[in-house]
Amino acid sequence: MDNNQTIELCAFKMHEGLYFIGHEEVSVHLISTEEGIIILDTGYPFMQQLIIDNIYKMGFDPKNIIAIFHTHGHVDHFANTQKLVELSGAKTYISRIDNDILNGKVDLSWANELGWEHLPYFDCDVLLEDGDEFTFGSTKIKCILTPGHTAGVMSYVITLADGTVAAMHGGIGSNSMLSSFLRKYGLSSDCRIQFKEGLTKLAKEKVDIVLGNHPEQSKTLEKLIRVLNGDTDLRDPEEWDRFLAWNHRRIDKLMREEEPV
Ligand SMILES: [Zn+2]
Repeated sequence: MDNNQTIELCAFKMHEGLYFIGHEEVSVHLISTEEGIIILDTGYPFMQQLIIDNIYKMGFDPKNIIAIFHTHGHVDHFANTQKLVELSGAKTYISRIDNDILNGKVDLSWANELGWEHLPYFDCDVLLEDGDEFTFGSTKIKCILTPGHTAGVMSYVITLADGTVAAMHGGIGSNSMLSSFLRKYGLSSDCRIQFKEGLTKLAKEKVDIVLGNHPEQSKTLEKLIRVLNGDTDLRDPEEWDRFLAWNHRRIDKLMREEEPV
């Protein structure tokens, strides 16, 4: 394939059992297991039909979704959850802390900031704590609490059926750690320290494939181009360390430039 050609991000198979089914603005991932399909985040409201179409395009049926995991309680990651539950009866998962954004106890969904009306409130079925682990057939999901971007960001380490480990930091955006934002909502800049601690926790994981809940964070388009060029093995044992180091640099810069609140 000609690399100069403009390629748009689209749904694709990243590894056996692992698929990108999101949009260039926000990621949605599908993990297929012997027990059914797992969805990781559900995107913006405008992505509803795209996600459903992409599930079919990858060879699956939305009615077989058994679990929906969320990285955090911002509207761009949970807007289509209720629709997918309606189609499948899937169980929903989020950190206990960020569930209070979904159910409206805490008004930090970013619906306003991101230009959307507030969505109907709901509670997830399973409220996650740091260190929780789940098994779906031969796929395992470990939950690691990494606050900062929100108080309840959950990162996921996913061991696929063949032993390959994919992992996603659940929220690296620094917009919610800026002094102006923290002041507006009466929050503390301790979230920046917590973000750094989360990166240190994640460094203990050995990861083969880095996922991002926004595609640009984990070079998803580059991964698609590699696949289109015939490279079916996206494993890179050093990518996780590079990703974490980049995030340390980003938060250190923010802490130098933004006064504590
Ligand atoms: Zn967010």
